[in-house]
Formats: sequence, structure tokens, C-alpha cells
Amino acid sequence: MSMLQNTDPLTGTRRLFYAVTPNETSFATVDEVPDYIIEAFPYFMGAMLLELIVSVIEGKQDERYSLADTIGSITAGAFMIAVSAMVRGFEVVAYAAINKHYSFVTLPWDSPWTWILAFLGLDFMYYWFHRLAHEVNMLWAFHQVHHSSEEYNLSTALRQSVFQRYTSWVFYTVLALALPASAIYVHVQFNTLYQFWIHTRIIKSLGPLEYILNTPSHHRVHHGRNRYCIDKNYAGTLIIWDRLFGTFEAEQEEEVVYGLVHPIQTFDPIQTQLCHMQWMWQQFWLQQGIFNKLCVIFKGPGWEPGKPRLGNIEDIPDIKYPMPKYRTQIAGWCQVYVTIHFALNIMVMDMYGSKYDMHTALGAMIGISFLIYSFTCVGALCDVKSYAPVLELIRCVMVLSMDAYITRSMPDYAAVYYYHLILLRVAFGLSTLIWIPQVLINGKKKVE
Ligand SMILES: [Zn+2]
Ligand SMILES: [Zn+2]
Repeated sequence: MSMLQNTDPLTGTRRLFYAVTPNETSFATVDEVPDYIIEAFPYFMGAMLLELIVSVIEGKQDERYSLADTIGSITAGAFMIAVSAMVRGFEVVAYAAINKHYSFVTLPWDSPWTWILAFLGLDFMYYWFHRLAHEVNMLWAFHQVHHSSEEYNLSTALRQSVFQRYTSWVFYTVLALALPASAIYVHVQFNTLYQFWIHTRIIKSLGPLEYILNTPSHHRVHHGRNRYCIDKNYAGTLIIWDRLFGTFEAEQEEEVVYGLVHPIQTFDPIQTQLCHMQWMWQQFWLQQGIFNKLCVIFKGPGWEPGKPRLGNIEDIPDIKYPMPKYRTQIAGWCQVYVTIHFALNIMVMDMYGSKYDMHTALGAMIGISFLIYSFTCVGALCDVKSYAPVLELIRCVMVLSMDAYITRSMPDYAAVYYYHLILLRVAFGLSTLIWIPQVLINGKKKVE
């Protein structure tokens, strides 16, 4: 699953905006459909860099970015990709099977009309899935990950739930009654890709296009926690669904404050994924009677006994400017450290993914466990946790041991990744030297 693919720059850029033709994106079978999202990664990085440069020129980089938040967002995206590599294609195969056995019409895969129907059908179903993901607690438990950033920049688009993908495909199976799996798999990916570039504060308005398309302005409202933003603008690509079904709200003068109504106050990647499930679990046992317990699962996150299904809008906390964001005081050297180690984590993930079959239980378990542990260490450093040095020292020893094992026992693999392994050896060797004194002298000392 190497992330560095060769796509020509024009095609790669066009794909980010859904600017593709049916001819170039229609396939007979699911197996032929490219992994557009993985192939887009270099373009995500390039666009994020461009957004940062523009923000620096506008003097708004501190207002729009925090290092720990960006790392948290990309980490969530990396987790999602690792898990989808593990259960590769399971949801698409299930869709294809339903399409094969239960479809009432066979639409030709190579017709532009099939492509257009799949585009509209998928975007329509995405609207309803997304709306329910905000209105039903058990779906919100996954989707809240995407809304957990208090920033709003291109990296926010990568902040994805590990589990959401599979629940959304359950909704999409309705389309299997008529639309071929290959067409839906293409459009699921482009629908996701399209939503990347709208996560920006740089583009203010797109004029008449605002009537038809989901735009940065519309999606800023969707990510807001101001009262007027709550439960609005669920569109994927076309904003017309919100206009049709009464959930549209235009961006107002009042500055949008981003993130969850009750921010999670941590950069821990596991907490980010699971916090609402924990909350639901507590609420489930707290509520009296089976009806109320079921309401915890099926009603909205704002529901309480005696309140409407989606709660009362007056319960949304007032916005008082400037709204403080959760930000920690990470020492300058530690910011450099977490940036380097975050990049190394991504490199290791890529090395691992290209070597091991994530379908094997053991391979997947080792890979995912190490990934979770590594990104948890980065999160603990970003949260300035007192135990972060101990976690990090353990990780350094683990990587150096793995390096020694690979070099001795897997010479072919070591030869392919010769320079990668040298880089890891140097980086983790030096890092060990940083953490040993920190742990020995003051194990409980915060990184400050
Ligand atoms: Zn949402
Ligand atoms: Zn979003």
C-alpha cells in the first residue's frame, strides 16, 4: 500500500475536485478500480503545504494551525487507512455480492448514464448517511472523530473515524439494487476526495457555484459549534440535498468556532476515536429503564430524558469571543522531535504495509499494535503527559530491537530498505539518548 504512486500532476489535481470524465473512471470490475485515495496522498501534502504558505503570507498561521492538532488529524487518517488495508475491500465485496444476486436491473458499467446515476445516487445516500451520523448517537460515536478538531484547515479533512467507512457502506447497499459495485466504489472515493479541499478558511466564496456545490463556506458552517451551525449542511458534493431537505444554512457574519460542542481536550489518538463510545457506555448504564437506554443509542447526542430527539438548541453553550482552544505548551525542541517522529511513523507504516500481508491475523495484529503504540506516544508528547518520556523510551528500544532483528534475520528486506533502516537507527539511537536521562533523573517530570 505504498503511498507514493506516480500520477501525472494534472490528473492528480483534477481528481481532488471530482473533475474526471466517465470514460477515464469507468471499470468493468471492482478489482480494476484504482485506490484513488492512496494515490492522492502526495497531492494532499502539496495542497496542505500551499495552504500553510498562504496562511503565513496572510499572517494567520497561528490562528489556523496547531502542530499537535495537525498531527492528530493526519494520525486519524493513517489509522483509517491501516484498518482499511487490513479488511481490504470487505465492504465492496459485500456490495458486489448483493448487486449480483438482488439487483432488479443490469446497468452497463461503461455507459456515461450509469456513471451519472451512480454519482447522484451515491451523493444522495451520502447526505442521508451523514445526516444520521449526526442525529443518531451510535453513528455519531464514529463520525464525531471528524469534528473533533478545533481548527479548520486541510488537515482536518484527513481526521477520519476508523469505523465510519463500514457503517456508510451499509447505507450504500441500497444502491446495489441497481448500480454496479465498480461505479459505486469509484464515486465513494471521489466523493471523499472532493471533500478534502473544502476544509479551508482561505477560500471565502465561490459565487454562483455556492447554489449547487458543497463549498468551503458551506462546510465551515457544518464544522461550527455556533448555535446556527448545529446539524446543518450535510452535503458531500452537491449542496442541493440540504436545500431540498431543509438542513441548509449559509455562512453568517458571526465568526464560526470549530469543533465539538464539548471539546475532547486531548491529542491522544485512541481517545479521539473512542471518547463518544465511552460516554455512551456510561450513559447507557446511567439511564433508568430499557426505553431510555435504547434512546441513548438511537437518539441524538443532545438528547436527555424529557427532551426532543435531537435535544434543545438552547443547550448548546454560548460562544464568547475569543473562544479558548485546547493547546498545550510543547517545548520548541519537542515540537521538532514530534514532527520528525511523526514523519518516521508514517515511513515505518509504509515500509510495513509494503512488506506484510495485512490479511494475516498475526501480521495485522503486530502492525496495528505498533502503529497504535507509536502514535499514542506522539499524542502523549503533544498532551505533555508526565509519562510520555517512559512510553517514548520503551518505543525507542522496541524500534532498535526490531532493526537489529530485521538486519540479522531478513537480509533481503534489509537490503531493500537499507537507507530507511539507517535513518531509523540514527533517529531512534539519538532519541534513546534524549529519553534515558529524562526517565532516570526525573521520570515524572513533564516535558517542558
Ligand atoms: Zn459531519
Ligand atoms: Zn468535514
